[in-house]
Amino acid sequence: MSGTLELYTFKVTCKYKTKIWRRIEIPGEQTLGDFDIIIREAFEYDKWDHLSEFFPGRAWACRGFGEIEPGGKSRGTKKKIEEIQLVKGDIIEYIYDFGDDLGHKIKLEKISVVEKSEDWPRVIGRNKPKYQFCEECMKEDRKTVATWICLECSDKEQRDVLLCEDCLMKKHEEHYAEKILY
Ligand SMILES: [Zn+2]
Ligand SMILES: [Zn+2]
Repeated sequence: MSGTLELYTFKVTCKYKTKIWRRIEIPGEQTLGDFDIIIREAFEYDKWDHLSEFFPGRAWACRGFGEIEPGGKSRGTKKKIEEIQLVKGDIIEYIYDFGDDLGHKIKLEKISVVEKSEDWPRVIGRNKPKYQFCEECMKEDRKTVATWICLECSDKEQRDVLLCEDCLMKKHEEHYAEKILY
């Protein structure tokens, strides 16, 4: 395949954890369904469960482009990026998981014309992660990145109880925990 296409560069930022962001490139001819998948990959969200939706403005305050079900073929998945008619600097919003209601702001940083040659969409940048470490591993003098927060123990002990996946499974198996995003 040869020819050119319009490539959109977006910065996707968590609405309530504004230090967490990913920069994503996606061609204008690809769809919101494609954009949804790469955002889920980039933020380590579930790709097989949970609804999501893009909104032209503030989420829920305006009508969205239609809900997206992973693997589904709803109206929300089919709209092409170029059909939204964004210009540089525009901000749209994205909600992942209607239950947890995780909001994201998506800013269009630029549109460039490029040769058709690469695999898009793709993640080209992200915030510098500020890793925290598993407290159980630390007791054994090991430094393991914590990927979970045990909400039950944190609530009980009135501090953040941070764990690696191994220690979560071994010592907090039945506890309600939440993934940590870096
Ligand atoms: Zn650990
Ligand atoms: Zn626990």
